[in-house]
Amino acid sequence: MNKAAFFKMSYGLYVVSSGDGARFNGQIANTVFQVTSEPATIAVCINKQNLTHEFIRQSRKFTASIVARSAPLEFIGRFGFKSGRDIDKFDGVNYKIGVTGFPIVTDHTVAAIEAEVFDELDCGTHRIFVGRVVDCDVLRDEEPMTYAYYHEVKGGKSPKTAPTYQKEAPPRPAAKADRYVCSVCGYVYDPEKGDPDSGIKPGTPFEDLPEDWTCPVCGAEKDKFEKEA
Ligand code: FE
Repeated sequence: MNKAAFFKMSYGLYVVSSGDGARFNGQIANTVFQVTSEPATIAVCINKQNLTHEFIRQSRKFTASIVARSAPLEFIGRFGFKSGRDIDKFDGVNYKIGVTGFPIVTDHTVAAIEAEVFDELDCGTHRIFVGRVVDCDVLRDEEPMTYAYYHEVKGGKSPKTAPTYQKEAPPRPAAKADRYVCSVCGYVYDPEKGDPDSGIKPGTPFEDLPEDWTCPVCGAEKDKFEKEA
């Protein structure tokens, strides 16, 4: 079985949100898809360990905000690599409340879909929720983020809880300047690409990054980075 085949599948990137009546949570998912058009139905696959899973099971409702291609890594890291059990992910993020009563993220998103769950499928580590669409709208006339763009252009990684997570392939042989890996989230700082979202120009060696520079995905400090083997 050649699991590289899975890398040939294409996906988008979404912030899936729900709540328990007292608070909200949202998380990044790449596995949101339309099931039928009449009536409009969507499905989402969520890791059972995640707080959003708990909230969707309770409330039977969720929203999916479609991430824009221009979204910075910090935004994706906030929703994708941190737990709502530790932080309020919506703190400092702009959103509006949809008809489900749950947040629709309005920063760095292009559209949003809201659904009421009518069925679910236990898939072992994950659960698929199938929901009738109760509202949807376009928020911004921009391209959506694709999973491929997130990986290839932005240098983004998958958390271990993603349905599509695979151990990364061995890195290619070292180029001119060393690449450094975040020991917390797996983000790779590539000097050739720099970190334009944080104002770091392409061609900046890791050693020359400012001391207060942090991982654009998870916020870890510079000393959490290790030279790529
Ligand atoms: Fe990180």
